[in-house]
Amino acid sequence: MSLMAKQRPDFDPDRRRLLSWFLNNQRPLPWRENRDPYRIWISETMLQQTTTAAVIPYFHRFLEKFPNLKSLAFATEKEVRSAWAGLGYYSRASNLWRAAQEIHQLGEFPQSHKELMKYPGFGPYTSRAVASLAFGESVGVLDGNVIRVLCRFYDLSIPWWKTIERNRLQNLSDQWAAGVDPRDLNQALMELGATICTPKSPSCAMCPLRLGCQGLKSGQHLKRPLARPRKAKEIWLWRVCLNAKNDRIALTQSHALPVLKGHLLPPGQAVKLKKKPKRYKFVHTITHHEIYVDVTTSLTSLKKMSTPVKWIPVSEISQHSPTSLIKKVVRFAL
Ligand code: SF4
Repeated sequence: MSLMAKQRPDFDPDRRRLLSWFLNNQRPLPWRENRDPYRIWISETMLQQTTTAAVIPYFHRFLEKFPNLKSLAFATEKEVRSAWAGLGYYSRASNLWRAAQEIHQLGEFPQSHKELMKYPGFGPYTSRAVASLAFGESVGVLDGNVIRVLCRFYDLSIPWWKTIERNRLQNLSDQWAAGVDPRDLNQALMELGATICTPKSPSCAMCPLRLGCQGLKSGQHLKRPLARPRKAKEIWLWRVCLNAKNDRIALTQSHALPVLKGHLLPPGQAVKLKKKPKRYKFVHTITHHEIYVDVTTSLTSLKKMSTPVKWIPVSEISQHSPTSLIKKVVRFAL
């Protein structure tokens, strides 16, 4: 059955129970202390792909270093990426820094999701989260937790990863957020997905939506949402050459690998393979990329490099290139 056909016209009783559950059970998270758009933006960017518990110490450390938009805008990109170390997805740190500069120049934080979408790193989710949680704009959010709750509540067996279905789910989320405080409603849906309607063992008996939940009624809730087809694994061989002298190693801005583009890494060449290579030192996995790394320490002619070479002290590598891949390379070679 289609999404629209399954949608119940009156979800108000469920929504009321959800809001009341949230107001009584929400976790005291540091970014919920006030409606500061800067804090909400930083937390929402960190929370993508990372659990709440893991984000909290990073959030405190980042806010200590960059307590407000101005401090982030006046930092260097290197400082911001270094403060991001451990969270992965470093392009997010660079985008935060770029957007901070643009928004600081603007003079005030944009308040609507449409305005926010114009800045680096603000996708549909982050824009809607900041606009609704900080400024009360009446828009719903759609993250993994909300997708799971909606697909179970409406018993939707849809390919939710496709744009057309995501747009429909976004419409549903917008409807849930309309006519109530969108800040509470959006956080309630996300909180329910994070704590009650969890991926593998939802606590339906404790759920404020259980009376209206069509997935629970049909017994299909554990099969919702549908599993997203996995991306085919890519195998790469990265032949890297570690040039070291006086406790410094040579790094260049890398574009050889399909990931970590623009990161400072040792010079090397990468090729895509059909099967695992016979000779390599270690394997490093990033998203669906399996990178087999072969490290040599024989000196390459750095003069022939097309990108400038920087000699970085080994003790400072993580400030310049916070990815764990380079730490492994250095560990193997020195
Ligand atoms: S009743 Fe169960 S499946 Fe339905 S929304 Fe609640 S926790 Fe999820």
